[in-house]
Amino acid sequence: MPLIFNTPTPLEQYTFRDKTFLLKRDDLISQDFSGNKARKIDWYIDNLPKSLTTIVSYGSVQSNAMYSIAKFCNLLGLNFRYYANHIPNFLKESPIGNYKMALDLGADIIEGYGSLEVGENELYIKEGIATKEAYSGIEKLALEIIEQLDSKEYQLFLPSGTGTTALFLAKALKVHGADNIKLFTTPVVGSKEYLLEQFRELEADENYYPTIIDTKKRYHFGKLYREFYLLWLELQNEIGLEFDMLYDPKGWMALFEHIDKFDNLVYIHQGGILGNATMLERYKRKYDENSKK
Ligand SMILES: *Cc1c(COP(=O)(O)O)cnc(C)c1O
Repeated sequence: MPLIFNTPTPLEQYTFRDKTFLLKRDDLISQDFSGNKARKIDWYIDNLPKSLTTIVSYGSVQSNAMYSIAKFCNLLGLNFRYYANHIPNFLKESPIGNYKMALDLGADIIEGYGSLEVGENELYIKEGIATKEAYSGIEKLALEIIEQLDSKEYQLFLPSGTGTTALFLAKALKVHGADNIKLFTTPVVGSKEYLLEQFRELEADENYYPTIIDTKKRYHFGKLYREFYLLWLELQNEIGLEFDMLYDPKGWMALFEHIDKFDNLVYIHQGGILGNATMLERYKRKYDENSKK
C-alpha cells in the first residue's frame, strides 16, 4: 500500500497576539493529502471491495476533498469521477489550484450535478467526505491528542465545513473518557443551524456535539474579506506557518471573539494549504492592486 501517513503528528507550542497555545500539526500528516481529509479517508484504505473500479463524489471545483480523493484514487489505481456544480470558463482555459492538481492526477471532472450517477462497482462518497466511515480516522486523531496532553483542562478548537471532523473528534474524545478536553468549533460554510443539521445527519446523540461559537459578523463561504486576508498574513508573520485561507481566517476570528473561554487552547491545523494558490491569487488581485493605487 503506497499510502503512508506521518502519525502521530506533532503538537507544538506557539504564541499569537500574546496568547500562548498548542498547535496540533495535522497539516504534516501527508505531503499528498489535505490535512483532515487524510483522517477522513483513512477508513477507506483497507476497506474497499476488490471489485471497486471507481470513486464518485461531488462538490465545489476547488475543493480540498476533491483533490484528496483524486490523490487517493491515483495511488490505488482507481478511477475518480467528480461532479462540480460550476466550472468557470477562466478555470477551464487555464486550470490552477486543486482543480489543476486533480486533473493532473487523472480525475474526470464533470460540470453540473444533473448527470450524477453511480454505477456498479463504483463507490459514492458524499461531498467533503462527510461520511460515517470518517469516524475511524478521526478517532485516531483523538487518541493521539489524548496521548499528547496531560490531565489539565484543555479547550480544543477547529473551524468546520461539513462539521465531520469537529463532531467525530468531540465524540471520540468523549468515548475515550477525555473529560478534561472540551471541543469548540465555528461554522464556516453556513449558519450555526446548518452546522447542527449536518451534525444530526452523522450522529443522533447531541451529547457528542462540540460547542459552537461564532463571529458577530456573518461571513459567506469562499468570499474575500480584507480582514481575513490581513489575519492570514498576521498568522503567517507571527507564527511562521501557513494556514488555509478558506477555513482558518474565520476560525481565528471566532476564536479571538471568544478568547476568554480558552485558557489552555489547542488549535488543530487541518492543512488545506495546497488549495491556497487560487485564493491567494484572488486576494492579490483584489487587495494588493488596490493598495498600490
Ligand atoms: C475540509 C477542511 C475543513 C472542513 O472540515 P469538515 O470536516 O468538513 O468540517 C477545515 N479546514 C480545512 C483546511 C479543510 O481542508
